[in-house]
Amino acid sequence: MNDATLIANDAKVIVQAHLDRLGEPKDHHLSPDVKQAKFDQIKEELKKRNAVLVAHYYCDPDVQELAELTGGCVSDSLEMARFGRDHDATTLVVAGVKFMGETAKILSPEKTILMPTLEATCSLDLGCPVDEFSAFCDQHPDHTVVVYANTSAAVKARADWVVTSSCAVEIIEHLDSLGEKIIWAPDQHLGRYIQKKTGAEMLLWDGSCIVHEEFRARGIANMKALYPDAAVLVHPESPESVVEIADAVGSTSQLIKAAQTLPNERLIVATDRGIFYKMQQAVPHKILVEAPTAGEGATCRSCAHCPWMAMNELDGILHVLQHADQEIHVDPQLAERAKLPLDRMLSFSASLKR
Ligand code: SF4
Repeated sequence: MNDATLIANDAKVIVQAHLDRLGEPKDHHLSPDVKQAKFDQIKEELKKRNAVLVAHYYCDPDVQELAELTGGCVSDSLEMARFGRDHDATTLVVAGVKFMGETAKILSPEKTILMPTLEATCSLDLGCPVDEFSAFCDQHPDHTVVVYANTSAAVKARADWVVTSSCAVEIIEHLDSLGEKIIWAPDQHLGRYIQKKTGAEMLLWDGSCIVHEEFRARGIANMKALYPDAAVLVHPESPESVVEIADAVGSTSQLIKAAQTLPNERLIVATDRGIFYKMQQAVPHKILVEAPTAGEGATCRSCAHCPWMAMNELDGILHVLQHADQEIHVDPQLAERAKLPLDRMLSFSASLKR
């Protein structure tokens, strides 16, 4: 019998405590002159350190623009990992959240991995503490453990497979075809979406993304009533009711592709608004509209913008290049163990492309 069962934990409490320590996110708008001066300084420092900037789609537009201008990359977490591993630079500056820096270190242990801040984390990572998760896995030894990339190095080290949202469905389909039962962590919404798509037998951890969890089907339906010609693009970390009304569901890269292939001129986008920078480049003539969020959720601090991604600022990038004081370290033994499920994902997704 295919059955998705939720495992209760205290993810929300842990995340709220972290957000309370963090304070409100900042919102900077730099004048063109100030921005250019910062870009020039950072470019110089990148050269001095033989470093490259790797940025996630959810970072602020200035950071994404800088990554593009300096020969770095702007992408989803799977592509960030690949790009960092394959690039010649000896130092990677990862603009994103901590698990992305850890993944870079695991895949490139010989490189120096710097981040503008080590405080930038993720509600999914926070909501899946390794001790609790490991104890749960131990209770189900006949299950294959599949974890989302948004987890700590220690949780990855406990897993058989790591996946990102761009390859998760295919990997679970593959495991299901082998008759394997699956433990999925930490995002419950993505897990439920995959379970529904594949019919696989999955036990779901009950973590969630504080950004995507705030999207509401009702608000989006109201917006659709206003713009009946619009298509709705949804990231599968959103609640099931939101996924159900989508015209396209997918990872950040897949949503950008959908924006290009759908015929609609107006797109309602239910993911972090950081994606608008690259999406608008891909469809310059289309109108992109932010999907409404509930705004009143207990953990919503910034609605459709991740408060941790927003901590990646130009000043932080410059500072870390000058001082190298925000470096990612992963215990080498742990890294070796965590690399196995990551390598499995990378070779599986490479085989999909062939
Ligand atoms: S947007 Fe959500 S999943 Fe992405 S880093 Fe922020 S909290 Fe984590």
